[in-house]
Amino acid sequence: GSKRNLTLKEFQEGLKTGNTAILARAITLVESTKAEDKILANQLVSHCLSNSVDSVRIGVTGIPGVGKSTFIENIGSLLLSKGKKVAVIAIDPSSNHSSGSILGDKTRMPHLAQSKNAFVRPSPTRNALGGVTTKTRETIVLCEAAGFNVIFIETVGVGQSETAVYDMVDFFLLLNLAGTGDELQGIKRGIIEIADAIAINKADGDNLKKTHQAQSQLQRAMELFPDKYSFWKTKVSTCSAMEGMGIDTIWKTIQEFVSLARRTGSFEVKRKLQREKWLYQTIDEELRSQFFEDNNSADAIKSFLKKVRDKQISAGEATQLLMRK
Ligand code: GDP
Repeated sequence: GSKRNLTLKEFQEGLKTGNTAILARAITLVESTKAEDKILANQLVSHCLSNSVDSVRIGVTGIPGVGKSTFIENIGSLLLSKGKKVAVIAIDPSSNHSSGSILGDKTRMPHLAQSKNAFVRPSPTRNALGGVTTKTRETIVLCEAAGFNVIFIETVGVGQSETAVYDMVDFFLLLNLAGTGDELQGIKRGIIEIADAIAINKADGDNLKKTHQAQSQLQRAMELFPDKYSFWKTKVSTCSAMEGMGIDTIWKTIQEFVSLARRTGSFEVKRKLQREKWLYQTIDEELRSQFFEDNNSADAIKSFLKKVRDKQISAGEATQLLMRK
């Protein structure tokens, strides 16, 4: 647009005062693929790492329709009433910069969208070239620098995005439904193993009995899995995001987990490991984008594609030759 570019100092001061318009622009900056934006973005994120508030990062996943946005709207409102500042970052595997995102649609969380102490933002997962480039970690750091102390990372439970989110959060919550076979689906997809708590949503009306049955069934199934932490057993609860039932219990569970994790040192150990992963993933993404964004390599790949397809050369040898260029 026609807006003047902000300087590093202006970004830093805007974030310090919790200015959400500046925060939004800072996130756009870290998502930019322009070389000059990248330099500024990296300086800004480095600065923010040591100029942020203590936070809790919570991953929320579940199939479409399970009630993620209703749940986050509800627990987010509860947290606002407790004086917290709440950021919601929605990762939609199908979204990119140009098409926007359903998950980030602000009408999904009307109360949070209009509160000055809440911030809702989609995080695109695909760049212009179709590669996966998530700047979610950077977005988290920027939100924390702007004073947001509870960060929800929401993702659709359909693919590999859950494990990516698991590597960015302190606590991972799986939302489930009763009576759809979904209790067992979570086991199949390996999500139950990484969940720190499972909440069976829509525990209201005619559903009430079914959800309690599902709860005890899941609880029993959980005993088959080894505990991830010496101090924690995955909690299974029921809630109604729509009626606001069981939501405060889930917040208490999260607080209990965080306080135990802090006391045992596991909280900081996990964050350190996550930052190590951050480096490896960023190197990976950077190498990939440098390789594919190089215009010469596009033509070269095309010529090798034919040779590989027709068995004239192995993929390994083709790659070796491409890399040498
Ligand atoms: P998402 O796709 O996971 O974000 O799910 P939504 O939050 O958009 O909810 C999907 C539908 O389920 C909406 O029509 C909600 O009103 C409804 N819903 C969400 N939570 C509950 C709940 O606790 N009880 C009932 N009965 N319906 C709910």
